Amino acid sequence: MIAVVGSLNLDLVAPVPRHPVPGETVLGGDIAEHPGGKGANQAVAAARLGGEVAMVGRVGDDDAAQLMLEAVRGQGVDSTHVVRTEGVPTGRAMIAVGPTGENSIVVSPGANARLSAADCEGSADLLGRARVTVLQQEVPDEANHAAARLSGGIVVHNPAPAGENTVPPPYVDLLVPNRTELAALAGTPVPKTIDQVVAAARRMTGAGAVVVTLGGDGVLLLEGGASLHIPAFTVRATDTTAAGDCFCGALAVGLAEGRTLEQAARWAAAAAALSTTRPGAQPSLARRDEVEAFLAE
Ligand code: ADP
Repeated sequence: MIAVVGSLNLDLVAPVPRHPVPGETVLGGDIAEHPGGKGANQAVAAARLGGEVAMVGRVGDDDAAQLMLEAVRGQGVDSTHVVRTEGVPTGRAMIAVGPTGENSIVVSPGANARLSAADCEGSADLLGRARVTVLQQEVPDEANHAAARLSGGIVVHNPAPAGENTVPPPYVDLLVPNRTELAALAGTPVPKTIDQVVAAARRMTGAGAVVVTLGGDGVLLLEGGASLHIPAFTVRATDTTAAGDCFCGALAVGLAEGRTLEQAARWAAAAAALSTTRPGAQPSLARRDEVEAFLAE
């Protein structure tokens, strides 16, 4: 079983002709609502790929809470450890999309910000049984630290979004940053070459192993002092939204099934590549049969 501890956000997406400057109002197009949040995305990614997944998190006591719970349950995720929070709104991300596809995003964490160490202690039995526990940085550090401590299995931490002062939880077996997040943690400029990525990853001595996602450049593994570059699968990528979330969910499934880190990372790179060929976050996430057909090509 895979436990995902993290955020559930309702994404509100509006097209805009250009992004407003402070003090300005810009008229946009019709708004669309989608289930999102890194925690929910990664939980759904793992479930679609055949994982048995339970989520630990918080929603508010509004209509968005019901929508988010139904979204994760509809994909087979056990939501019994997602707590409703009285008097607080569910997390939302307000996303303005400009004409060339660039986003400006305001995240209002709402109930996600109330996830506590005590909540994770309340889910200690679940976390203790999990073969893999997956964490991100859209809930308070204290919740992540408690979840990492209570986890009975492999702890995977995706340090996203990159925070100024966030400290990765102790007890992390596997750190999964992208280039920007790696730079934020390692205190280096954003690494450009593979050698620079390896050098920055070597600074992350607290984690057992590091898997750096490199977009169209694939993945870099650093395990036991040895590095391995896995190139990206060749696809016609049209929308990389949630590619990192798909990768983390798929990596958790691979590890929970007992694959080696290298095998799990290759399988996750295939799932994430497929997700870039479709628009959106959760709708773009790959199914297991698709990944298997893709790998058999
Ligand atoms: P994030 O969205 O967190 O920044 P990345 O952009 O690094 O994450 O993408 C995660 C993974 O998705 C990559 O490591 C890679 O395996 C896959 N991926 C992303 N972009 C592409 C692409 N253009 N072609 C093939 N695979 C891709």
